[in-house]
Amino acid sequence: MIPGTFVQAAMRGIRGKCPRCGEGSLFRKWLKPREHCPVCTLDLMPQRADDFPAYIAILVTGHLMAPLIIMLSLDFEMGPLAMVSILVPLALVMMLGMLQPAKGAVIAAQWWFGLHGFVKERLPDDNASGPA
Ligand SMILES: [Zn+2]
Repeated sequence: MIPGTFVQAAMRGIRGKCPRCGEGSLFRKWLKPREHCPVCTLDLMPQRADDFPAYIAILVTGHLMAPLIIMLSLDFEMGPLAMVSILVPLALVMMLGMLQPAKGAVIAAQWWFGLHGFVKERLPDDNASGPA
């Protein structure tokens, strides 16, 4: 069933599900999207997520890590080696763990807004349509 809002479509993408039906899996491998949704046959080939999911993962990880770095250095007075041994693995896990959900959200956004050859399928917005 077609989602009613952009947030609903994005949440389906974050969960790795097709943004249109919410049931078919979006990925056939970790970051490799399927060509078609196995449930509703939505053509996923027009997606152009490119590097944007990586930018999202870096941005979110950086903003979550900054307060942690400040807290570890000020409150716990950790040395550089101890901080690096905690922060680098944590940052790697966070960024790698965020890539697929971010890519799903980007694909869902592209589908929702009808970008790159996706057909805009959502129902017309009552507020946006009407005589100009
Ligand atoms: Zn689908």
